[in-house]
Amino acid sequence: MTEIHGAVIDNQTRCTHYHQLHDIIAIKFKCCGKYYPCYQCHQEFENHNIAVWGKHEFDTLAIVCGVCKTEHTINQYLNTNTCLHCKSLFNEGCQNHYHLYFDYTAANGKQ
Ligand SMILES: [Zn+2]
Ligand SMILES: [Zn+2]
Ligand SMILES: [Zn+2]
Repeated sequence: MTEIHGAVIDNQTRCTHYHQLHDIIAIKFKCCGKYYPCYQCHQEFENHNIAVWGKHEFDTLAIVCGVCKTEHTINQYLNTNTCLHCKSLFNEGCQNHYHLYFDYTAANGKQ
């Protein structure tokens, strides 16, 4: 079972910072290899800086769906907005934070 760290408030990876309906993923951080629901959780519980995943590492399983606990690779996650297994909708607002987790520049120029 994938262990989710941080200020988690339910069993679908919502945390004290992000707890809307679609906030149902956790991200494994490259720096410590731990799953956190968001970067703020990481900053509260760790005392090192976040290391982002490089583009050559996007085939790493680093996203977990909080509903069914299926792990996705970064590439899979970046190319879908629903869980590939249970079809739960992921929060599109997360796109605004991709650069905090991945070496990511939006292909379509959107910030
Ligand atoms: Zn870390
Ligand atoms: Zn959080
Ligand atoms: Zn799922």
